[in-house]
Amino acid sequence: MSGRVTPARSPLIIIVSGPGGVGKGTIVDALVKRDPSLLLSRSWTTRQRRPGEREDAYVYVTRNEFEAHRDRGGFLEWTEFLGNYYGSPVPDAASGRDIVLEIEVDGAQQVKAVHPEATLIFVLPPSRDEQRRRLIGRGDPDDKVQQRLRKAEEEEPIGRALADEVVVNDDLDQTVGEMMDIITARRKAAGSP
Ligand code: ADP
Ligand code: 5GP
Repeated sequence: MSGRVTPARSPLIIIVSGPGGVGKGTIVDALVKRDPSLLLSRSWTTRQRRPGEREDAYVYVTRNEFEAHRDRGGFLEWTEFLGNYYGSPVPDAASGRDIVLEIEVDGAQQVKAVHPEATLIFVLPPSRDEQRRRLIGRGDPDDKVQQRLRKAEEEEPIGRALADEVVVNDDLDQTVGEMMDIITARRKAAGSP
């Protein structure tokens, strides 16, 4: 099977959340490559693009542009995270694909409040040391590594309490397989053959 799949039901909303450096971006990229009926929502942010980060990783905007879009009701959810705005545009249900949101816990809480049927998968690192290694390996500067590790201590209890599923991202292939199994089960429950 190839190309776009139109499910005969409302699109699922799959929220992938978890602390910085756990591997969320890597996982969602693998999911959408594997399954063409998943649509990865492209967030807006006011943060600077990281060296080496893909140009289309986000829609990079100024604070004024972000606030204007927010005030027009353009975001499904938005938050301020470590000094920058991040927001998910209101999804286009007409795409016919199930939507994947890769967002932090405050945004996840907002989406669950409006769409309690959304599936929240919270991703944890195998250990704090491994999370630190991943942040450093990705090229985050020392102060950002410390900030993100501290923030993780706040985020994890909230995320675990809110989550429908918790996945530990140790081996990447295994994690992506577990996530696909969760999505397949949700599709079946929603009436997919
Ligand atoms: P996040 O989006 O959660 O901030 P990233 O996807 O940017 O995290 O991943 C952070 C770093 O960890 C990247 O360098 C990525 O290649 C690496 N990574 C992701 N998953 C794994 C894994 N299962 N094992 C080892 N390294 C990983
Ligand atoms: P980063 O700066 O590492 O790309 O992202 C910082 C945090 O913001 C990550 O936890 C990421 O998942 C989250 N994030 C990215 N886009 C959005 C968004 O649209 N909304 C919310 N609430 N969080 C987002």
